[in-house]
Amino acid sequence: IKLAVPKESATGERRVALDPATVKRLVGLGVEVLVQKGAGARAYFPDESFVEAGAHIVGTAAGLLKEADVLLKVQAPTEKEVAGLREGATVIATIMAYRQTEVITLMREHKLTCFAMELIPRISRAQSMDVLSSQAAVAGYKAAIMGADLSSRFFPMLTTAAGTIRPATVLVIGAGVAGLQALATARRLGAIVQGYDVRSAAREQVESLGAKFIELPIKAEGEGGYARELTDEEKAQQADALAAYIAKVDVLITTAAIPGRPSPKIVSQAMAEGMKPGAVIIDLAAEGGGNCELTQPGKTITHGEVIIHGPLNIPSQVPLHASEMYAKNLFAFLQLMLAEGELKPDFEDEVIAKSLLTRDGTITHEPTRALVE
Ligand code: NAD
Repeated sequence: IKLAVPKESATGERRVALDPATVKRLVGLGVEVLVQKGAGARAYFPDESFVEAGAHIVGTAAGLLKEADVLLKVQAPTEKEVAGLREGATVIATIMAYRQTEVITLMREHKLTCFAMELIPRISRAQSMDVLSSQAAVAGYKAAIMGADLSSRFFPMLTTAAGTIRPATVLVIGAGVAGLQALATARRLGAIVQGYDVRSAAREQVESLGAKFIELPIKAEGEGGYARELTDEEKAQQADALAAYIAKVDVLITTAAIPGRPSPKIVSQAMAEGMKPGAVIIDLAAEGGGNCELTQPGKTITHGEVIIHGPLNIPSQVPLHASEMYAKNLFAFLQLMLAEGELKPDFEDEVIAKSLLTRDGTITHEPTRALVE
């Protein structure tokens, strides 16, 4: 079969679905890999590196789509891409169904088989395929770097002839995959780090990174290891308790998310106004509206003397490594389905069944079908 990697078309997207090293491994499994000219350029993978790995370069998107048995993408396909594929072809990408109802309808009409990488269940066997984790780790790392960059203070303690500088204090709210990576990175840069989460399991993970865990009485473990939404009363309690911590830190990184819901508003305007002059908020939840009331997704604003940064699509800002990690996730998923150079998915397999979005003219994923129909 022919796997096809197009140039990502979303504005600002610099990642590419496969890197040359993964292409080489796939070719070794007996498949053909087609790469659109320039597809890896923005992640610094030149066309020649794909050719050396055994891929064929195709000049145009239309030419690539016509030949593709399986289209491999970082972001959801566009309507044009779906229309350019032959009926029955397969698409593997991060879809984020709630933003893509029209494309999903079109994939159903074209009888495409679509697997959504973000729907892969987070079970041990599928850890190597978990794009949410790999890309969240990239985002967490970069959030700490952004915080250091926007801060008017040093992160590390410095002892110099011009005196001793005290280290910065960084608080991370939401200690999931991104939050833990932000804590680890800020600590490596020399900051004093604190973490907070509503799941008790986060305590041990935060402490194992050498960070202090902020313990509040509110516990909100939800389903599948995620947090549940807080009640209004819990939200008020949380705000009261957190305000005192937030007022003392130099950099606040927020990453709190609830699956399928807008990001919880944890940092009110008053809490932000109570921060030190020159303090920085990096709101990693900006994509879902933000954890801070003042966040403007995609912008860096100054409110009073506090800088609030709401970055979007952070993994694309570390395109080389983010692409390599994404490609490794794709490889692990493809390996599950490839046999003798053919794609033979076992639709009974939990990982395959749960990530399947459309097939044979139906939307197989229940919540997405409810959204679209
Ligand atoms: P996420 O991106 O959905 O949320 C980020 C964090 O925000 C979570 O830790 C969550 O508890 C926290 N949060 C939500 N509401 C909050 C609030 N009001 N106040 C403070 N914090 C709040 O989460 P994620 O990083 O994708 O992962 C969540 C969980 O899934 C973690 O326990 C993680 O270890 C687990 N996980 C398991 C696997 C696996 O087993 N394969 C893989 C990845 C993640």
